[in-house]
Amino acid sequence: MKQDQLKAWQPDQFDRFVRILEQDQLNHAYLFSGFFGSLEMAQFLAKSLFCTDKVGVLPCEKCRNCKLIEQGEFPDVTLIKPVNQVIKTERIRELVGQFSQAGIESQQQVFIIEQAEKMHPNAANSLLKVIEEPQSEVYIFFLTSDEEKMLPTIRSRTQIFHFTKQEEKLILLLEQMGLVKKKATLLAQFSQSRAEAEKLANQASFWTLVDESERLLTGLLAKKKKVICKLLN
Ligand SMILES: [Zn+2]
Repeated sequence: MKQDQLKAWQPDQFDRFVRILEQDQLNHAYLFSGFFGSLEMAQFLAKSLFCTDKVGVLPCEKCRNCKLIEQGEFPDVTLIKPVNQVIKTERIRELVGQFSQAGIESQQQVFIIEQAEKMHPNAANSLLKVIEEPQSEVYIFFLTSDEEKMLPTIRSRTQIFHFTKQEEKLILLLEQMGLVKKKATLLAQFSQSRAEAEKLANQASFWTLVDESERLLTGLLAKKKKVICKLLN
C-alpha cells in the first residue's frame, strides 16, 4: 500500500507519525493494535529509515530500498508471522542473535511481528531486553488484533497505536471489487483486516458457507417460531 492510500485509510495515525518523523522521535518499540493499515504503517516507517531519496521525512516509494521493503524482500526489515499458530521461541532467539550482531555494526534493523500475541513469554522477554539496550538501532513493531492478549510487559514498554476498522471505506472498496452492497457490508463486518476482506471477496467456498449458514439460521428460526406458537396456543 502506498502512502497516499495509507493516509486515506488511517489519516490521524498517518499525520501523527509524520510529525514523529519530523521531530526525529521515532521510538524503538510500538504496539499496533488492529489490522487496518498497521502492517502498511510499519512498512512505511521502515521505508522512512532506509529510503535513499527521501522527500523531507517521507520515503520516495521509488528507490530500490523502498521497493524491496514493499515486496517484503529488504534484508534489514524482517517480517515474522506465526507458523501453525505459534511464534517459536527459537525463531526469536535467532533474531536476538542478529540484534547483537547489528549492535556491533551499528546497523539499523526493523522487525515487524504479526499476530504478536502468539509469542511465547520467553520469546517476548528476550525481545524486550534488546529494546532496552541504549545503543540499539533496532526498531520493533508488534502487530496484534487483540491487545488484551498481549503480555503486560510488552504493553507497558511500548507505545500503543490503534488501527481501527474503517468499515465504510471497506464496504466501498468491496463494492468496487464487484460485490453487491449486502455482501460487501456482511464481509466488511466479518473481516479483521483489509487483506482478509480482499481475499474472501473472491473465494467461492466462503460465499457457499455464508449461504449455507443463512439457510441453517432461517431454518432454526422458523422451527423456534413454531415451538413458540405451539406454546402460546
Ligand atoms: Zn525510497
